[in-house]
Amino acid sequence: MNAPARPVVTPAATDPAPQTGASAPITQDVLTIPRKLPEAGRTNLVGLTREQLRDALIAAGTPEGQAKMRVGQVWQWIYQKGVRDFAAMTNLAKDYRALLAENFTVDVPELVSRQISADGTRKYLVRIAGGHEVETVYIPEEGRGTLCISSQVGCTLTCTFCHTGTQKLVRNLTPGEIVGQVLLARDDLGEWPAPGRAPKDETRLLSNIVLMGMGEPLYNFDAVRDAMKIAMDPEGISLSRRRITLSTSGVVPMIARTAEEIGCQLAISFHATTDEVRDKLVPINKKWPLKELLEALRTYPKLSNSERITFEYVMLKGVNDSDDDARRLVKLIRGIPAKINLIPFNEWPGAPYQRSDWERIESFAEIVYRAGYASPIRTPRGEDIMAACGQLKSATERARKSRAEIAAETAR
Ligand code: SF4
Repeated sequence: MNAPARPVVTPAATDPAPQTGASAPITQDVLTIPRKLPEAGRTNLVGLTREQLRDALIAAGTPEGQAKMRVGQVWQWIYQKGVRDFAAMTNLAKDYRALLAENFTVDVPELVSRQISADGTRKYLVRIAGGHEVETVYIPEEGRGTLCISSQVGCTLTCTFCHTGTQKLVRNLTPGEIVGQVLLARDDLGEWPAPGRAPKDETRLLSNIVLMGMGEPLYNFDAVRDAMKIAMDPEGISLSRRRITLSTSGVVPMIARTAEEIGCQLAISFHATTDEVRDKLVPINKKWPLKELLEALRTYPKLSNSERITFEYVMLKGVNDSDDDARRLVKLIRGIPAKINLIPFNEWPGAPYQRSDWERIESFAEIVYRAGYASPIRTPRGEDIMAACGQLKSATERARKSRAEIAAETAR
């Protein structure tokens, strides 16, 4: 691999993930934007695949011969134009609009609040059915923007550096709740075409999606797959698979399926270079240790130099940040087209770790860079509103473990 230009501080435009820790003054703007949840007895169309939508329309009385056309029309209204009211779907006959309204809704989750960081990062608190809440983060960048979405309420995994990991799993999100986060963000950004106007071109406010919010996306595979297929559909949100990155802690058996059934970019929550340390930081490593994980990555079907796997590496003072760690890291990933994202640790209440010193991070980055890998250090984004990587946790899900519990797990 050719040696990339030496990155000292990350160019955020090449970094798909939410960013970290800031020294900017804390300013917050909290809004409450109520929105209705799906009504009982009617099916919500948001999150249905094209096939499911077709079946639903036929079951409601759409003649089979018209079904394909109707699916295309309804799909475009929902995902290309952002229309939620059947009455506004003006290329459908009035009686057909009435039939749709009788049987269906077009509902997205409820936006409870929006906080805006001093650096423009937006954190949305989103309420889903059952009153549960997840967080979604929008990170604006020059000429583009990344939405970090959640796939579960809480998480079954207990990565010890992650705030979400202190919150027990409540439930998986549905496809509609996952893709609904994208629709909500486009609402908030005002990114739908004006009535009668063509869809906006590729210069978008929301140009990338990362599945790096709350939850392990590969433990909710089918819903994540269906939601991302909807996001990629060229007649709707129309994001290229190269603009979608799924981050996993290392659910080895699902890695090949991710390539085959979703085809998006892959990021690995890596964080350690020995099984001993990774067992503590990312406990799923006890099930699928480094050797098995790296084997699965070497055979990741989409692997090529133009589609590198991103290795996320949180820098924890005195835990995983030595020069020896850096050397072991490049040895471990040798042969895998890769980029290493170095993440200065984002602190949260009760966190059992500290951020590595800047000089240590730079020294680590230099070793990785000299071995031929891009090693950007993420610039701070959204830390003042607890929107940075590893800080997400819904405010009302207070199943928080105590500091002592976390410390005990860390020491195990
Ligand atoms: S890092 Fe991801 S997989 Fe690990 S606890 Fe946090 S949300 Fe779960």
